[in-house]
Amino acid sequence: MTDRTLADARRWVAHGTHLCRDALVSLDEADFGQPSLLKGWTRKHLAAHLAANADAVGNLIRWARTGEPTPMYSSLEQRADDIEDGARKSASELTNWFDQSATALGSAMDGLTPAQWAAEVLTAQGRTVPASETPWMRAREVMIHAVDLGTGVGFADLPADFLTALVTDIVGKRSAAVDGPALLVSPSDLDLSWTVAGAGDATEVTGSLAGLTAYLAGRADHDARGPDGARAPDLPRWL
Ligand code: ZN
Repeated sequence: MTDRTLADARRWVAHGTHLCRDALVSLDEADFGQPSLLKGWTRKHLAAHLAANADAVGNLIRWARTGEPTPMYSSLEQRADDIEDGARKSASELTNWFDQSATALGSAMDGLTPAQWAAEVLTAQGRTVPASETPWMRAREVMIHAVDLGTGVGFADLPADFLTALVTDIVGKRSAAVDGPALLVSPSDLDLSWTVAGAGDATEVTGSLAGLTAYLAGRADHDARGPDGARAPDLPRWL
């Protein structure tokens, strides 16, 4: 298994931010109103979510710096309302919000000392984590949603070391939840495999690392297959 570092996560935040920005600036007002690859969300919803997420992760960075608890979102309703409100903004307002929030988050992260990175904060899912985990949380958002924006970026365009770290993360969460089928995840293009704890004898799923990542992340567009080319088992949600 690979161990990701804070430097890895920050590099992936920068990469994913770049991918999202390139995607957003390629879209006009009409394109922004079109569906994203996430059910029920237009690209405007997704852009608003990405910008609001940068602000929310920024709250955790402030918490780590000051010691004063500042949660990501004041409530789950507030999080949902902000996305709905954001989806009524114009394409240029959303692109600017994305840019400004991402830049502010990067500067805030640059300013943390090693002791502040080690400070504990609470995520929106209620997990207590060191602040050094927050760049990984943000990297997941910008990388996966760069695909979800539906402008042609695929999982195969994401760096292999990020995909490996993401599969490791998802496998850990799915194994802890034990709410799906047991799996042996065997990429054809990587000398690594993962086991997912779950119901029944482990089903081997094969495919490219990118395709298996998309499958495990619950995305529809993937090349994961079960034994003898059968459809890979359906999975419950992971986040
Ligand atoms: Zn998200």
